[in-house]
Amino acid sequence: MIYADNAATTQLSKTAFEAMVPWLLDEYGNTSQPYAFARKPKKALAEARATIAECINAHPDEIFFTSGGTESDNWVIKGSAFADAQKGTTITSAFEHHAILRSCAAIERLGYQVAYLMPTTDGIITADALKSAISDTTRLVSIMYANNEIGSIQPIRELCDIAHAHGALFHTDAVQAVGHVKIDVQELGIDMLSASAHKFNGPKGIGFLYIRKGTEISSYADGGAQENAHRAGTENVASIVGMATALKENCEAITANVVKISALEHRLLSALSDANISFVRNGGKKTIPGIISLSFEGADGEAILHRMDLCGICISTGAACNSKDTEISHVLKAINLNKTLAKGTIRISIGKNNTTAEVDAITAALIKILK
Ligand code: PLP
Repeated sequence: MIYADNAATTQLSKTAFEAMVPWLLDEYGNTSQPYAFARKPKKALAEARATIAECINAHPDEIFFTSGGTESDNWVIKGSAFADAQKGTTITSAFEHHAILRSCAAIERLGYQVAYLMPTTDGIITADALKSAISDTTRLVSIMYANNEIGSIQPIRELCDIAHAHGALFHTDAVQAVGHVKIDVQELGIDMLSASAHKFNGPKGIGFLYIRKGTEISSYADGGAQENAHRAGTENVASIVGMATALKENCEAITANVVKISALEHRLLSALSDANISFVRNGGKKTIPGIISLSFEGADGEAILHRMDLCGICISTGAACNSKDTEISHVLKAINLNKTLAKGTIRISIGKNNTTAEVDAITAALIKILK
């Protein structure tokens, strides 16, 4: 099996797995208890929080553990709406992950206004697009750091400055970026950031939300005093430790990983060109290393996916068939990709564990299928 769907999920790091085991088997105490047996897990939790904070240049008190990217995104959209008695507007983009889009739809049903910015054909939300929609009644601007289907990286610092100039908060869904490119929340100036461990070789079902000190947001879950009484529920210590270990491992190797993955990406694209395969690469010039969205005119992405699967290769598509028609993804619709290209779109996502031999096998299979 060759795994080339790292934007969907990644392989758990062995170091992270090993770091998790003691907290599952032996040190299972509940961190909320006052006795000595709870001391070690309590310390592990504090250390994991500090490690994660350091990786993104935040303060440990600004890291809130969640069950993953979906929960972090729901918390931001709903929590900042519910904290705002003025019912200000939320601005987001039309090509966000459904965790953002469906949370926005939920607050719209409660009477809050949401505006959806359209990306350029290269998958960028421009400063001009935000300037034309923002006003002093905007409460929150939420724009993803990098798109999960096409990989395009957004001008976060610039967008954040515009939001702040209008008194609005700025959030970024950085699920595809954390652990893959350097993220510094101070440099970006942002107020909130969502991340998910299974996208950076950590365990599934755990993530975090960075909330800058002083940001107004209501609690996500009411109950116990965990996460500073903002997200109640007994902490998943093993997964939190696994997440911190995986993030630290990735951040320490970030330059080497970017170099390796970019070289593999270049190798794949050159091999396709050398074989005279014509394709459109979506996402413009600045993409997350390894996320490769390719459109082949006249091809069927879903058929390519299944043929690749028969060769033992895991990739993803940009379109999904239902019984009647081909459903083009909301991302490809938002970048205005024409229907025949959109139908022939696949996403290959290379990760740090992929090898040159694997990339060569992926390319060979793809060329054979397309020819
Ligand atoms: N946001 C983005 C950009 C994603 O790519 C994903 C997962 O694909 C999510 C949010 C949801 O993350 P999780 O799977 O941790 O709920």
